[in-house]
Amino acid sequence: MTSLTNSNCLCGNQYSYQDCCQKLHLGTEQATTAEQLMRSRYVAYALKNAKYIYQTYAQEKQAENPVKEIADFANSCRFIKLAVINTEQQQSNAEVEFCVSYFYQSLFCQLHERSSFIKEDGQWRYLDGEIFPVADIKVSRNDECPCGSGKKYKKCHNV
Ligand SMILES: [Zn+2]
Ligand SMILES: [Zn+2]
Repeated sequence: MTSLTNSNCLCGNQYSYQDCCQKLHLGTEQATTAEQLMRSRYVAYALKNAKYIYQTYAQEKQAENPVKEIADFANSCRFIKLAVINTEQQQSNAEVEFCVSYFYQSLFCQLHERSSFIKEDGQWRYLDGEIFPVADIKVSRNDECPCGSGKKYKKCHNV
């Protein structure tokens, strides 16, 4: 997917990428809620924008999450979708529970996490998260693709 101009933003909002997460990626706007930042971080993973993910970590977490490691993870996954389950936001901290679906090699994986966000210098930043374990599913070429397209895996996300 190279042209995102006319389709909905990958974060699942009804807006186009240009009117949604791109503004945050370009830095022309800042996230006004933790959920918005979370959505833009997911889209950055899907678009392999490791730098943005790094920059939106809380300062104390940046050293342990180098850009290269973020990029290696993003590049090894095919992201399918984001579902935001719940958001609780206070003045300067917030929690967002979400589920991200992606493929890693021939595994269909779901990351179910409750993330913590804090405000630093007035900007929302990702601090850390509590992960709820979800079993990975091994997908064979002739299985129906777990992304929900109705196609066989080999004709869909098996790249
Ligand atoms: Zn978006
Ligand atoms: Zn698929």
